[in-house]
Parts: sequence; structure tokens; C-alpha cells
Amino acid sequence: MPLDRPTGLISSSATLPLVGVLALQGGFEAHERMLRSMGTATREVRVPADLDGLDGLVIPGGESTTMTLGIEREGLAEPLRTLARQGTPILGSCAGLIMLDRDHLSLMDMRAERNAFGRQIRSFEADVDVKGIDGGPLRGIFIRAPWIAEHGPDVEILGEVDGRAVAARQGRMLAVSFHAELGTDERLHRMFLESMRPR
Ligand code: GLN
Repeated sequence: MPLDRPTGLISSSATLPLVGVLALQGGFEAHERMLRSMGTATREVRVPADLDGLDGLVIPGGESTTMTLGIEREGLAEPLRTLARQGTPILGSCAGLIMLDRDHLSLMDMRAERNAFGRQIRSFEADVDVKGIDGGPLRGIFIRAPWIAEHGPDVEILGEVDGRAVAARQGRMLAVSFHAELGTDERLHRMFLESMRPR
């Protein structure tokens, strides 16, 4: 059962941030586990009403074509864009990165190349130095991962593998090609949580 924000708290400083995880398809549970272990309340997002009152949103990995169909079916595209316009931070990983690009939700001025690392090496691990994350590189798990093929000036590339952009930020949108939610390294999620407004 998804944890929700505790109700009835008087002091807002005692209220946990509430992070939605798009749960139409794909690897949403690993993100929830990681966020909860970091002391964050989570809510699975399946319909537009689930976006109400969120402090942040994660779009997980999965299959971007299936996720696109789910977003259309549930009428989520416009509500997701509104959420972003309101300044709510969004983290997209793998298929989530694809969903943020120009050809999908168009929340970041970039074009993702799907399955970009080729059919021979569909899945691999690599160290990624991510700008803004201290303490050494992240061990990125890449599963039929995209890379960022092109981007506009407002997109800041935060990390590369073999000269290919695999981590980027634009305003409060954060996108990574890899699965940062698998394993125990919380640093990327910490950076995402830190981009939220204090409650
Ligand atoms: N290859 C998938 C896609 O194009 C993304 C893979 C993933 O999210 N692990 O949607």
C-alpha cells in the first residue's frame, strides 16, 4: 500500500515531502523503495488526481511506447505538463528520460535516442561522474538505455559515458539514462529531493 503524507500534523516542518512515482508501467517500485528508505512519503500515480499536492514526481524506466499509451489513455499528458510548469521537480530515469524529451512530454529541450547503446550491449554497468554529486562516480546500470542525442541551450549535461550524454538537467527537470534506483547509492535521489522547495 502506498504511504501517503501523514495528516493532521500542525508543524509543516514535520511533514514529509510527498513524491509521486508514475506507476502505469515499468520499474516504479524500486524508486518507491529508495525514496521511502530516505524518509520520503510516496504515492503511486495512475490518474491525474494522483498528482494533487505532490512535491516531486519520478518517471521510472520501462518501455516508453507502453508508457506513452498509458499516459494518453489516462489523460495524464497535460496534467503532467501543468505540474512541471508549477515548478515541481521531476526525475526521469531511462524510459523516464525519453518521456521528458521533445517527442514525448516535451518538458526538456532535448531529443533522446532510444536503445542507443546498440543491440550487442543492450545492458551494462558504467561509472558516471555526475556534476553536482560528490564522492566519486555513480555506478550506472544501463538497460537498453537511451542517450541524449541533441539538446538546446537550456539543457545542462551533467554526465557522459563514452562521450554520450546520459545525465542532464533543465530547471527542475532531472533526467538520467541509467537506473539509479537499483542498488543502494542514494546520491542521485538526494540531489533530486534537494531540488524541492522546503515545506
Ligand atoms: N528501451 C526502453 C525504451 O525505449 C527503455 C529501457 C528502460 O527504461 N530500461 O522505452
